[in-house]
Amino acid sequence: MSEYVNKILEGLKKSNPGQDIFIQAATEVLHSLAPLLSREEKYQKHAILERITIPERAVHFRVTYIDDNKNVCVHNGWRIQFNSAIGPYKGGLRFHPSVNAGVLKFLGFEQIFKNSLTGVAIGGAKGGADFDPKGKSDREIMKFCHSFMDELYRHIGNTTDVPAGDIGVGGREIGYLFGQYKKLTGRFDGILTGKGLGWGGSLARTEATGYGLTYFTEQMLKRAGLGLEGKKCCVSGSGNVAIYTIEKLYQVGALPITASDSGGFIYDEEGIDVALIKELKELKRARLSEYVKFRPHAKYTPIERYPAGRNGVWSVPCDGAFPCATQNELNLADIKTLYANGCRFVSEGANMPSTLEAMEFMLGKKDFYFAPAKAANAGGVATSGLEMMQNAGMDSWSFDEVDRRLQGIMKHIFELSYETSKEFGDEGNLVLGANIAGFRKVADAMIDQGYV
Ligand code: GLU
Repeated sequence: MSEYVNKILEGLKKSNPGQDIFIQAATEVLHSLAPLLSREEKYQKHAILERITIPERAVHFRVTYIDDNKNVCVHNGWRIQFNSAIGPYKGGLRFHPSVNAGVLKFLGFEQIFKNSLTGVAIGGAKGGADFDPKGKSDREIMKFCHSFMDELYRHIGNTTDVPAGDIGVGGREIGYLFGQYKKLTGRFDGILTGKGLGWGGSLARTEATGYGLTYFTEQMLKRAGLGLEGKKCCVSGSGNVAIYTIEKLYQVGALPITASDSGGFIYDEEGIDVALIKELKELKRARLSEYVKFRPHAKYTPIERYPAGRNGVWSVPCDGAFPCATQNELNLADIKTLYANGCRFVSEGANMPSTLEAMEFMLGKKDFYFAPAKAANAGGVATSGLEMMQNAGMDSWSFDEVDRRLQGIMKHIFELSYETSKEFGDEGNLVLGANIAGFRKVADAMIDQGYV
């Protein structure tokens, strides 16, 4: 059966030149599917791997706006509609200079399986632009979002494709995108999630990814007879996922001691001041280096001082690590350092933050617990699903109601992933369990629906 997998991967390399990041995502998923593929012939017979690795549709478009200095700025925009077998396309928009078709294909591909795991009826997609919101004025952000929606509006709808935020796209951007959609179509539809609370957004959506990540980690450690209480945790990133992971870690009795941004990282041995990070990052859109002005005992290390190819935040001794920044931010050398310093679990808040080699290292250790992104960070998109349900019912639920459902969903995802790992003879390997469980539901739906 690995012959089938290898043939598909070789084909993918040829048909997706220069998209190593997409090949990395496909390699991880396809390898872990081998035990399912050798048990069930139907997936090969129906050419599921051949089909599931090609997006159903990918739209590439031009986005133009005039900046505050009257320059004409031109960017690439994309929406990759990867798979709609189990529901309308769903997945975020990323605005970052590193965005390209390969990055969005990796993210869209992952989203298929993540969304399937949530139990909500949503397919997989991703979109975005090679636009850097950093340092732009509010007017520039608004103009860019309006121009982006000038094309995107043709491709989305509340039963077809429902985008949301990701890196560089938060509440402000969703607002500008929604406003332009409404102006162009005249319709007040729930075509985006992560909306403002006064106009169709859901309570607890902002917190959901970080809270869900912590709930998932609690489940994973509980199964091993362990817990988060008193654990020192290294968190990377300082965006929405990192901030609400830090907040929830305190609530469950853990001590988060680090945070980072593209300039460097903070080590605060007394524990990260979550109110301060919120103020700096959410309100002032400031650099993390400002943190030490308010907490002089904390230590800021600029990125230039990290050893080459390393992420300095992983050199801080801890019990567990929560990579919540971006893809491939935790490599083999990083995990070896973490492990040598006593770290015994990693929970992925970002999408694909660990390299394949780092993942292999973690799965190879009997005394190590690894929560893979597709399962562990699915709370964000799951709560987007809850926002869609509230919109469809013209309803709005309390914070506690949404949080209660989120906890139930994360428990379900953990149990489904764990039980599936057991079913395939590799108990506790949540990479294998999550990938097989997420894949099986989508693949069976594709078989039911014929060759489309
Ligand atoms: N961007 C988030 C993710 O990676 C959320 C997507 C959504 O809410 O649709 O899952």
